Amino acid sequence: STVARKSLKIGLIPADGIGKEVIPAAKQAIIALGSDIPKPEFVDLIAGWECFTRTGVALPEETVEILRNECDCALFGSVSSPSRKVTGYSSPIVALRKKLDLYANIRPVVSVSPDVNQRPSIDLIVVRENTECLYVKEEILTIGEHGKEARATRLITERASRRIGQMAFELALARSRKHLTIIHKSNVLSVTDGLFRETVRGVPLLAGLNGKYDGVTIAEQLVDSAVYRLFREPEIFDVMVAPNLYGDIISDAAAALVGSLGLIPSINAGDDFVMGEPVHGSAPDIEGKGIANPLASIRSAALMLRHLGYSKGADKLDIAVDRVIREGRVLTPDLKGTSTTNEVLEAVLSKL
Ligand code: ATP
Ligand code: MG
Repeated sequence: STVARKSLKIGLIPADGIGKEVIPAAKQAIIALGSDIPKPEFVDLIAGWECFTRTGVALPEETVEILRNECDCALFGSVSSPSRKVTGYSSPIVALRKKLDLYANIRPVVSVSPDVNQRPSIDLIVVRENTECLYVKEEILTIGEHGKEARATRLITERASRRIGQMAFELALARSRKHLTIIHKSNVLSVTDGLFRETVRGVPLLAGLNGKYDGVTIAEQLVDSAVYRLFREPEIFDVMVAPNLYGDIISDAAAALVGSLGLIPSINAGDDFVMGEPVHGSAPDIEGKGIANPLASIRSAALMLRHLGYSKGADKLDIAVDRVIREGRVLTPDLKGTSTTNEVLEAVLSKL
């Protein structure tokens, strides 16, 4: 929803690894939008593994409070994960999603340059529920008659399914094809996935919507066949909505179809807050070399702005990024180029 704002306060959490190289690039791209968005104000915030080794906490309370009380939105970079389990450390991104109730993970997957001789072009959005399913992480190990037995709780609630469903319908409505596919496995998990499926299907019938989603067509796919069809005929998908675990798998599979991790953006969205985050990790193998691809982060900024209702600014960023990729002259090594992070940023800025 668009709120009239004089300024846009954006929290910046580069965190670790190449996050420290790509988030500043996204900041420059936002600044270059000028009057297409409310005047951006940036707040530098800390979190992550390096923050943990320095301060003893991975997500300082102050970071959460400033995001919650002062910021309209945020951009998150990436966190390094320690190679072994470290007492007291847990991922700040997971904690942030919880604390700010960012219940949706939204990941558009779009093929770079449709090549008629290769695969069909892909233009879809994966909407993943982000708070429950197997991620409630309630696991127990017991000893049974025949040895160890491990069990996990899978929580699906009507409330979480309804709000993710509604977000998916909103996204579908805003697109030209207006087609929503519900991903589940209710032939096996009839109670949990059954509830998810029924609840999402019921969203258009909710009181007060008055036929708002009449133009959206609804389909369903069992998760296994969804992955199969994603590889065989990705063009059948427009918006896909899924419970947490299936969404995780589908969104990585879809990402693999379009190439470099350095290109894929995401947002974590709730009712009151949105946080952009490139899909890639901290990429320790290229950290500090100045060659990280900043395009996923710039696209994440675009997605964040679009979610806030600033589609003009978002379009400009997306178009600039697309042009740079299509021209193919200024690209980082992950896209077989020889340019640096800064050179790619400059190329984007010149298109803006
Ligand atoms: P993490 O544990 O933080 O996820 P990782 O080793 O899994 O780290 P990823 O960041 O997930 O690393 O990246 C996987 C591969 O993709 C690495 O080889 C990395 O260099 C490359 N890569 C990821 N993001 C980018 C980017 N923005 N630009 C260039 N290469 C990237
Ligand atoms: Mg990784």
